[in-house]
Amino acid sequence: MNCDKCGEEAVMHAAYSGLHLCQEHLVRSVDKRVRRRIREDGLVPDDATPDDPTTWVIGLSGGKDSVVLTKILDDTFAKDPRIEMIALSIHEGIEGYRDESLDACEELTADLDIRHEVVTYEDEFDLQMDNVVEKDPENMAPCAYCGVFRRDVLSRYAEEYDADLMLTGHNLDDEAETALMNFLEGNVEQMAKHFDASLGPLDERTDQDHHVPRAKPLRDVPEKEVALYAHLEDLPAHITECPHAEEAFRGEIQELMLGLEDDHPGTRHSIMAGYEEMAALAAEAYGGDDEKFGECDSCGARTARDICRKCALVEAVDAV
Ligand code: SF4
Ligand SMILES: [Zn+2]
Ligand SMILES: [Zn+2]
Repeated sequence: MNCDKCGEEAVMHAAYSGLHLCQEHLVRSVDKRVRRRIREDGLVPDDATPDDPTTWVIGLSGGKDSVVLTKILDDTFAKDPRIEMIALSIHEGIEGYRDESLDACEELTADLDIRHEVVTYEDEFDLQMDNVVEKDPENMAPCAYCGVFRRDVLSRYAEEYDADLMLTGHNLDDEAETALMNFLEGNVEQMAKHFDASLGPLDERTDQDHHVPRAKPLRDVPEKEVALYAHLEDLPAHITECPHAEEAFRGEIQELMLGLEDDHPGTRHSIMAGYEEMAALAAEAYGGDDEKFGECDSCGARTARDICRKCALVEAVDAV
């Protein structure tokens, strides 16, 4: 098949749009969707100037998504003096997995000449995910611990770097899965939180004072296209999956969604379109109610309990 834009040989067919695209036009089309999302979400503040630039922290894991995001942000904004970018990688202490993906991060950030910081669970919490999984004091899935630690690290370092925005590489499949999970769990409050934390345009979010806001500029691009982009652009992405990955429910949802997408191309896009609208309404209904939050007695993080979840988990792991 040939590219619908230029007649060169096509490298992909997107069933949801009907388009066949060649390498160049696929890359352009992904770039365009990411830039449009950045515009629509209002990620570059009007008042950012070369003297008072805005600071973006990019969560860089070394997987294809964050690598592609970093590359596109660098292509688009490296020469823009209103924006400073820092790539932040986290080493969770997962033997045989994270070392290699960090190599990919280092190669990429050296190529792009972008500031790169690495923080480790070892330094931050005096623990490694491999040990946490072994001890498992709370009888939870590995990702449940890891996610709490990651959020803590990200929010503290975002503050330390005086970040205005935290950007992550979630793609369309990731977001549509999360949306479906929230639907199927009947969790409207979670939809509101999702909107306020990372989904809504920056100026429409209701709870803006307490966290560095997050954004996901790749969230209009299907996973396959992100993978193809990384491959075609020869980016140093690490593809092995984490040995502790076992989010069982997400796996089921993923299969369900890909089946629906096969039979009804465009399903992921329509899930997200409807979800965003509902999440915005939910955020309006729930938003701004944060009086119950205080500071963690142990680390000072914002929490609704005496001791934050991260401190409780570190304590539980240490006690085993
Ligand atoms: S898959 Fe789970 S355990 Fe592995 S790095 Fe990601 S969140 Fe952590
Ligand atoms: Zn073409
Ligand atoms: Zn704490």
